[in-house]
Amino acid sequence: MALSKENITRALTTVDTPDGGDLVTDGALRSLEIRGEDLSIELSLSADAGRETLQQIAEQTNGAIRRHAARTGDRVGRIRIGFVGGESTFEAEFPPADDRGGPSGDPGSAAQPNPLPGVKHVIAVGAGKGGVGKSTVAVNLAVGLARAGHAVGLLDGDIYGPSLPTMLGLGALEQVVHEGELQPYTVHGVKAITLGKLVEADKPLIWRGPMAHGAFNQLITRTRWGELDHLIIDLPPGTGDVPLTMAQTLRLTGAVIVCTPQRVAQDDAVRAVRMFQQLNVEVLGVVENMSFFIGDDGKEYDIFGRGGAEQMAQRLGLPFLGAIPINTALRANGDAGDPTRNFDPSTAGGDALPASLEKLVETFNAQVSLAALKQGQATPTLSVS
Ligand code: ADP
Repeated sequence: MALSKENITRALTTVDTPDGGDLVTDGALRSLEIRGEDLSIELSLSADAGRETLQQIAEQTNGAIRRHAARTGDRVGRIRIGFVGGESTFEAEFPPADDRGGPSGDPGSAAQPNPLPGVKHVIAVGAGKGGVGKSTVAVNLAVGLARAGHAVGLLDGDIYGPSLPTMLGLGALEQVVHEGELQPYTVHGVKAITLGKLVEADKPLIWRGPMAHGAFNQLITRTRWGELDHLIIDLPPGTGDVPLTMAQTLRLTGAVIVCTPQRVAQDDAVRAVRMFQQLNVEVLGVVENMSFFIGDDGKEYDIFGRGGAEQMAQRLGLPFLGAIPINTALRANGDAGDPTRNFDPSTAGGDALPASLEKLVETFNAQVSLAALKQGQATPTLSVS
């Protein structure tokens, strides 16, 4: 299909500007020229922006156009982006995906077939650090979405330290393989798959880059997912090989970052956010885990400095998706493999945990719908609860 100005303009509405809006509503788009498959775009920002910001906006613009084109079936050649008008002028040129080769190339380009055509939204859950509760958030998001009526899959992409077998209580269940495809476990209303059931539990999992790539890809593409509204991917912590493979292989609606309130966790979370942005994966928002503790006296204690991750989200201009308190029941239900208990006040140590999880699911859903609309996906996901 031929490129259209309308489609490109639509893609540009997904790129934020330092002025607080997006490239289109802020009137930053000065000209747009289409020559065959090649594009030339001129932008002008009213706020003075440094070279680094302009470079970032140019990369985001390139990514947004190519992702949108992948969905509409358009082919995009070279994209030239120039900034005019402000104190600093800047120009960047991006070759077509096929010429780029490297990992910073165009994830999800039209040249790659979508390996998960039955899945509406693929969402990664990442964290800068281990132990901040990334898997806990991934599991509870998945279960919460399923409870709200969505068809949900959960993939344990933390191939170095899979925790889903424990957290979902997969202990006695056997991995079923049907006609060469992995059959996901259906537990707590969620279809789940994990490498943890295919390897020995107490053996260290050491993967070199290409092996990690292969293991992750096989889990994704060799699982019989069927039709899903959401596929949640629990990523390994940090900025290693798996997120790269994921962004190259899949069309993601976005990523969620889990962070605890302390400064040391925030610094690593910022790196994770930057990684997703570099990979042209939209960051849907930040979850603050272990936000505060409710004592037996009913008082709330800010052990790690409540609000730290929320402030970080604000600083980065990202949505804040919600705060989860430190809660003994959450840990115990995780160890017992029964996350459903986190949604019932009688097994969740009171109302605070179920309320925070339900709110998280609601805010998350709203951000997914927004991102899908911005990215021009056909069917927005609406909450049924
Ligand atoms: P990560 O995936 O980031 O390494 P996990 O989700 O595996 O972290 O969590 C690490 C441990 O902390 C688990 O035992 C989990 O049950 C516990 N945990 C996570 N979040 C909370 C919380 N809000 N309250 C109590 N325990 C928690």
